[in-house]
Amino acid sequence: MTGESELTFSDLDEADQDLCRLAREAAAGAYAPYSRFAVGAAILTATSATYAGANLENASYGLTICAEAAALAAANTAGDREIRTVAVVGFPIAGVPGRAPVITPCGRCRQMIAEFAGPAQDVRILCCAADYGRVLATTIGELLPHAFEPQSLPRF
Ligand SMILES: [Zn+2]
Repeated sequence: MTGESELTFSDLDEADQDLCRLAREAAAGAYAPYSRFAVGAAILTATSATYAGANLENASYGLTICAEAAALAAANTAGDREIRTVAVVGFPIAGVPGRAPVITPCGRCRQMIAEFAGPAQDVRILCCAADYGRVLATTIGELLPHAFEPQSLPRF
């Protein structure tokens, strides 16, 4: 039994729908001349604030910043690090042929989200299709079990 659920957009409550829309809107700011794949992410924190980010590619490729990392950096800059929910959406800039894909955070972003998840690893992750069709609702604990987290390090 996992905590994952395959949902439709209409299954989400209004707050979750708004967060997915914010992620979709953020994707419009993507700088993705190499992959031509736009990604947007939006974070809801315990203070009910939201932060959004878009992917930021680089000619070196390796310096690319993911949308989730950009949104996390915005939350961090505000000192608002108690993450409750992350919504992510991605799509080819040229348009989605047929059914829009559901994408999940990459491994690096899972690690970055886990940093702010706390011991319960219960940050919700909403992976939304760009056409507001399917949604994979899961948690960071499901996406990154046995994470190396702040509690893994001894305190000196
Ligand atoms: Zn990533």
